[in-house]
Amino acid sequence: MEQRKSGRELGLFGTDPLIGAGLPYWLPDGAVVRHALEEYVREAERRAGYRHVYSPVLGKRELYEISGHWDHYSEDMFPPMEVGGEEFVMRPSLCPHHAVMYRSRAHSYRELPLRMAELGAMYRAELSGVLGGLNRVRAIHLNDAHIFCTLEQVEDEARGALEMIREAYAALGISAVRYRLSLPGAGGKYVAAPEKWERATALLKSVLERSGVAYEAEEGEAAFYGPKIDVQVEDRAGRESTLSTVQVDFHQPEQFDLRYVGPDGARHRPVMVHRSIIGSVERAVAHLVDVHGGAFPAWMAPSQIVVLPVSEGEFAYAEAFAERCRAERGLRVEVAGPELGSLGARIRNARLVPYQAVVGAKEADAGQVALRLRDGRRLDPLPAAEALDRIGSLVAGHSTELWPSA
Ligand SMILES: [Zn+2]
Repeated sequence: MEQRKSGRELGLFGTDPLIGAGLPYWLPDGAVVRHALEEYVREAERRAGYRHVYSPVLGKRELYEISGHWDHYSEDMFPPMEVGGEEFVMRPSLCPHHAVMYRSRAHSYRELPLRMAELGAMYRAELSGVLGGLNRVRAIHLNDAHIFCTLEQVEDEARGALEMIREAYAALGISAVRYRLSLPGAGGKYVAAPEKWERATALLKSVLERSGVAYEAEEGEAAFYGPKIDVQVEDRAGRESTLSTVQVDFHQPEQFDLRYVGPDGARHRPVMVHRSIIGSVERAVAHLVDVHGGAFPAWMAPSQIVVLPVSEGEFAYAEAFAERCRAERGLRVEVAGPELGSLGARIRNARLVPYQAVVGAKEADAGQVALRLRDGRRLDPLPAAEALDRIGSLVAGHSTELWPSA
């Protein structure tokens, strides 16, 4: 019976009371998974015309007063720190930084849509009682982006983001349980501008309808500055959470007085589309562990191939094959030799590794490997170069299939 392990048991991350609750550190295997995710997202964004930036993880209190976070979101923010007579706040989101970066120079309508992406840290002052694992944390590393565009461009940009989310979920081997149109609820948590809320809500409805996805509207789940599409996932216990979002915002462009010069030579206000494809790396990895139980798709597995020489005689051949995997395809590979136990024991130890390449005397002589797949399939021995080619292509293509049957 396979035993499912948590991210902590898999050695992906840990915590220490001296660092503090909700502030996990990432161990080497966890860092590999996180890097793979981050690389996937950056590459997908690059192909979709996003430009990446970096911005500081804190800012002056005034920045969040202008953005509206101070009025509408401060109970979730860390208290200000005073330095040299100025007050600094750990940032609760990346939007205000990106808005002032947009504002740092003039823009023509020809530059729009301007897609600014950053995988950056933000902070939430969660109470320690609700913290646990990677799901509820105080330091959040968000795959974030802000698209500055004209009103006419909003629908295409939001639809493009939904398409990126769909592709990412396919590569991650996860699925959305539902799409939620998150609307404001009662109370003073939301900026008061009924006309803007209506306009933004109508745009998102149209995006959902034209994308052909079923959705449910829900009050009280919007961002303070605008409505959003939330892509909901469910864990194995049936608990639902939001992983990805697409939001339309008329509020912050006005607060920061953002402009672009139109074809008419006059200055116009852009719209901000906020979107996240995989959400935070913390929640994404927590969900992936929950779904896959450590048996990640090969492209993000901490170890992708383990080479198993049957006896000491094949050790040099195994080492040479592992070196080719690294050098030619950049694969993460290790050799588990007979000093680590019987072949059966070594295979059991490697049960989360997608590919196990067994080499006995016959394979070593013929320049072959005998592949065993994590799902239990055993392939006929095949030339080492062919095995390497097929595995390399599947990994490079972010396939969730270990070995597609021809
Ligand atoms: Zn934002």
